[in-house]
Amino acid sequence: MPKSPPLPPTFPHGAPPAFHLLAKPAGAICNLACEYCFFLSKEMLYPGSRFRMADDLLEIYIRQLIESHRSPEVTIAWQGGEPTLMGLDFFERSVEYAERYRRTGQRVSYTIQTNGTRLDDAWGAFFKAQGFLVGLSVDGPREYHDAYRVDKGGKGSFDQVMRGWEVLKRHEVDFNILCAVHAANQDHPLEVYHFLRDDLGAQFLQFIPIVERATEELLPLANQGWSPTPAGKRPLYTVSGDQVTERSVQPEAYGRFLIAIFDEWVRRDVGSVFVQHFDAALANWMRVPGAVCIFSETCGQALALEHNGDLYCCDHFVEPAYRLGNIRQTHMIELVASDRQRAFGLAKRDTLPRYCRECPVRFACHGECPRNRFIRTPDGEPGLNYLCAGYKAFFTHIDHPMRLMADLLRQGRYADEVMSLLAAERQD
Ligand code: SF4
Ligand code: SF4
Ligand code: SF4
Repeated sequence: MPKSPPLPPTFPHGAPPAFHLLAKPAGAICNLACEYCFFLSKEMLYPGSRFRMADDLLEIYIRQLIESHRSPEVTIAWQGGEPTLMGLDFFERSVEYAERYRRTGQRVSYTIQTNGTRLDDAWGAFFKAQGFLVGLSVDGPREYHDAYRVDKGGKGSFDQVMRGWEVLKRHEVDFNILCAVHAANQDHPLEVYHFLRDDLGAQFLQFIPIVERATEELLPLANQGWSPTPAGKRPLYTVSGDQVTERSVQPEAYGRFLIAIFDEWVRRDVGSVFVQHFDAALANWMRVPGAVCIFSETCGQALALEHNGDLYCCDHFVEPAYRLGNIRQTHMIELVASDRQRAFGLAKRDTLPRYCRECPVRFACHGECPRNRFIRTPDGEPGLNYLCAGYKAFFTHIDHPMRLMADLLRQGRYADEVMSLLAAERQD
């Protein structure tokens, strides 16, 4: 059994009973080179590394994660880079370790985020047998997907990804689609939605805005992408700068994108298609917990683990200033419950500009993620979210149907009744 720092005799003050942790066993290494993927540049944080989580660290990680949870369910979540580069046996061992360390009655569930290009029947059978929920990245039909999701030779990855999707379908693996929204697909919401819903048969969807920040000085380089260039020059992405790359989604376009899909969804797909933004909004309209971190008042319970055991405040803040420590030296729960991590989570609320604090849809938006707060409010206060215009339009637009759904749920009825209520309103 590898040496792991012991679980403290009493749980640290303020330790959450459960939390999210995205582990990156292959660090930032990927077989693709998506142009908007600034995470690729994080390779520069670990010069000389082989970017492979060692087997003893895998065991330490699984053990600490399970020990740190006082909830009946623990989620082991893999992400990258491209986690499947670790090979199937790595994940088979992770399941063995989870079985070894889980307490009686404790349930372990697994998720993995993949680009899908390396999946074959062996992966499909494994995911199905272990009940993995697979997040597959697809940015819509071929022309939008291939705009930026390319391999290292610059060739679109659509065909390879579709082969991965076929594996998942063939083995009846649960999957959700992560669709990035960017300059290439932002004006085609229904085409994207119909493709994902009808052609891929996806029931679970996330529409993630691409916002690649850069300083004025770094912008020309950032516009070229985040992979190494032949000249060897590339910037390390950090959450700084008030410019965005030309691939980034425009705020108003993002709002229109969400509105167009919501309008179709609320008329015909409630209860059969689940869109993360809409579920999170409904939780906030009902004033119950359940919203994702970006739409919660505070955050700090979604951390990231690098391949060498370094633990960071959040997947979007994998940079030296946000490194909490290393789980080989300090038990994970002490880092999760640390004052630094608590302050990180509270800052989401405490740094909101007045414009947000007085915003009528603050209860739904909460200023979204701090990583995107780099523009000024109309009266010049810094810290407004770059996507504000889009979110304000979206949350304002969905108010009426959200109220209807929240009322239905409060009465013990089903949210999908909203579709007939809205149809009746249209006939009046
Ligand atoms: S698949 Fe694309 S977005 Fe995902 S890690 Fe690889 S390069 Fe980045
Ligand atoms: S920084 Fe953003 S992504 Fe990270 S936990 Fe907070 S809200 Fe979530
Ligand atoms: S919609 Fe804009 S002003 Fe309102 S909370 Fe969100 S970011 Fe702030």
